[in-house]
Amino acid sequence: MSALRLRGILYDLTLWVNSALPCIARGMWVHLRVLTLSLWQRGIALEVVCLDLEGVLVPEIWIGFAERTGIDELRATTRDIPDYDVLMRQRLRILNEHKLGLPDIQAVIAEMSPMPGAPEFVNWLRERFQVVILSDTFYEFSQPLMRQLGFPTLFCHRLIADETGKVTDYKLRQKDPKRQCVKAFHELNYTVMAAGDSYNDTTMLSEADLGVLFRAPQNVIDEFPQFASVTEYKQLQQAFAKFSPRMIAD
Ligand SMILES: [Mg+2]
Repeated sequence: MSALRLRGILYDLTLWVNSALPCIARGMWVHLRVLTLSLWQRGIALEVVCLDLEGVLVPEIWIGFAERTGIDELRATTRDIPDYDVLMRQRLRILNEHKLGLPDIQAVIAEMSPMPGAPEFVNWLRERFQVVILSDTFYEFSQPLMRQLGFPTLFCHRLIADETGKVTDYKLRQKDPKRQCVKAFHELNYTVMAAGDSYNDTTMLSEADLGVLFRAPQNVIDEFPQFASVTEYKQLQQAFAKFSPRMIAD
């Protein structure tokens, strides 16, 4: 190989190194940035936990009311009648037939308590996540129970009663409200974890990044095998903590 040829090869090699080095450096920088961003995002994970109310934190209000009034027809819940409008129209009709108004329902709710362990569970969650209760209950009679839970944020509906207390109608906040809430939280860049026990929770659980059934009846568990199913608050805590990219203390 002539000296001239060797010099040519060395020159080409120098050119290649000169052009390759920035690429290598840039590649390393990109890797470093991705790694840093990943660690940064782990540190600022934006998470909200959405919980159903009745059947998850408090007993079924209508069942409690049916037991105290002895009206068996009022025991029906979304577990029995998935169409919420059909269920509510039936409840309003029965109330009116028995001449029972809002004060009667509120008197019953004032005697009810959250499920054992529910206040502690809510406190545990609120120290570690943002927590929102998504319920198909009504503000008009949720207050005594919400007080016992420390008044976490509640998105639900309104009952309409006349001046005598007779319940004349109800106003849903919006159609498919639980799913719409999860979609809205996603729009706000939140990761959503959710838990519920019944048919009216399944669209929320589907829309969420993590959906868990809590103390659901067997027919709901069988119909929605895609969701994990647990029965204890400790298991829910573990499910949420495991799903979070943050280190969640027990
Ligand atoms: Mg429920």
